[in-house]
Amino acid sequence: MRIVAATLLAAACLAGTPCAAAERDTERIAMVRTQIESRGVRDARVLEAMRAVERHRFVPDDLAGQAYADRPLPIGEGQTISQPYIVALMSELLGLSGDERVLEVGTGSGYQAAVLARLAREVFTVEIKPLLQARSARLLSSMGLRNVTASAGDGYYGVPAAAPFDAIMITAAVDHVPPPLLAQLVDGGKLVLPLGHPFFYQDLVVVTRTGSTYTVDNVLPVSFVPMTGAALEGGGGPPAPARP
Ligand code: SAH
Repeated sequence: MRIVAATLLAAACLAGTPCAAAERDTERIAMVRTQIESRGVRDARVLEAMRAVERHRFVPDDLAGQAYADRPLPIGEGQTISQPYIVALMSELLGLSGDERVLEVGTGSGYQAAVLARLAREVFTVEIKPLLQARSARLLSSMGLRNVTASAGDGYYGVPAAAPFDAIMITAAVDHVPPPLLAQLVDGGKLVLPLGHPFFYQDLVVVTRTGSTYTVDNVLPVSFVPMTGAALEGGGGPPAPARP
């Protein structure tokens, strides 16, 4: 009986109404509890950011109803928005306290950047695909996220004009640590990335810079879309750095 009543209520919620918004809020709170906290993410600021950022605004309209499901979703151009748990885990692994300047490589939908915007002082994010870049930059600015700078370009080269960064996150798969990104990380800073075969599986790793060298800690196996541009060309060619 209760299930029938809930179904009727859900069916009565038209897109864009306060009823639909309340439903999304409920789904988001449940997402954090059942997908993220339950798998061991403990950082209270990360959990709060995941509860606050409206993931359904970052997916195509026809997929908004699946925005809080436990999986990645297509965002166009053959790219995906990561599973919510992975967004939370990667955010937690950066160990942010709120005063950092962070670089994200692979803006995609802009969702991860919006989460980072609540965890760090300043966020720079770079996207190589012009259509996705234009769309996510528009969305992030329409949300009034003043501490996010979204730029177009090959993130393999980082954003030299805004470096150094306290933390860096790469959200596309690459088979080596891009030297320009390591160079743009402060000593002791962390770089979180899916490291491995760009067209197969990778390990989510935390790279910690220590002077001119670094350590790598494996976290768990993952499967991301490939980092394109210089990463697939062996890092050669003239740098075309993104500008903030
Ligand atoms: N963080 C995104 C999801 C990432 S999907 C989100 O929250 O939605 C990976 C993204 O990385 C894709 O949009 C892809 O176009 C981008 N990408 C791949 N190679 C890149 C490169 N060299 N520089 C910048 N972005 C890149």
